[in-house]
Amino acid sequence: MNSLEDIASQLLQDNELVLVGHAIPDGDCIGSMLGMACALRALGKKVEMILENPVPVIYHYLPHWEDIKEPHKVESSGFTAVWLDCSDQCRVDQSVREALQGAAKVINIDHHLGNSLFGDYNFVDTEAAASAEIVYRLLKKMSLAITAEVANCLYVGIIMDTGRFLNSNTTSLTMEIAADLLRSGASVELARNHLFESKPLQEVMLLRFALQHLHLSENGQVAWMCISLAEAQQADALDYHPEGIINYARMISGVEVGLLFREVAPGQVKVGFRSRGRIDVASLARGLGGGGHRLAAGASINGSLEEAVAQVLAVVKDVC
Ligand code: AMP
Repeated sequence: MNSLEDIASQLLQDNELVLVGHAIPDGDCIGSMLGMACALRALGKKVEMILENPVPVIYHYLPHWEDIKEPHKVESSGFTAVWLDCSDQCRVDQSVREALQGAAKVINIDHHLGNSLFGDYNFVDTEAAASAEIVYRLLKKMSLAITAEVANCLYVGIIMDTGRFLNSNTTSLTMEIAADLLRSGASVELARNHLFESKPLQEVMLLRFALQHLHLSENGQVAWMCISLAEAQQADALDYHPEGIINYARMISGVEVGLLFREVAPGQVKVGFRSRGRIDVASLARGLGGGGHRLAAGASINGSLEEAVAQVLAVVKDVC
């Protein structure tokens, strides 16, 4: 592990950077990339950003989201690759790994437990509520201005990873950083309107499918929901990250673990885990090849929806 100072001095000295986040990007990954890109570009650096999946429409109010491109479009060579919000290099697909082959240096900035420290430089703080919190501290360490553009991006990362400041990862430091982002020009209204009150109909239709397949274990401690590929296609929602849908499983009284199974390709299922507090779902997810945090984790399972449900429930029911 390196110090924040080490990472700051690397970023200050390098002039060509490629920022990358994980597959099925969420608000923290996108907000961290955009916030860092805005701040580093203001120094005159060439900063490219890549993601293997499209940026969900709710984030299209953020500055320069259109600059996030497909991995094969990377122009630089001999650049510094900055991985944001990725616990290991398996969080991206082959197209991203190939695009980053020309990197002269790899910097890994993350807040997930079990990060494999795959970079030449690594800064992982599992106490940070969001990677955006770390990016904020890094920009401060570099004495870079937190402009309104930067502030809006980082604020999104924090809001989404703390569940609007309600998840137990929310700390007093989270609040202090958020307060400074508001002072710097982040807009609560823009965030509320775009993130929570402009849901595409397709995403709400995904919720309808998920609720149609809501199940409860016999002891009432595990709730799970499923969305098949056919249903996502029917809802015209293949590219949507079903942000927040999983919470409907965990919010049921008595439920300790909520799960969302989503078939993302034929024979490939993404499973999300949420814990009420007693169960460490990160360790369950890691046992299935995934990862995440104690109370919010995920994994990708090869097989049909039914097979994935059976495999995951066998593990979860052991502890619930
Ligand atoms: P999600 O359910 O997609 O919102 O993910 C919850 C948490 O688990 C996030 O911090 C993710 O980064 C992490 N996570 C999700 N899927 C995986 C995976 N396949 N491998 C490792 N971590 C994951």
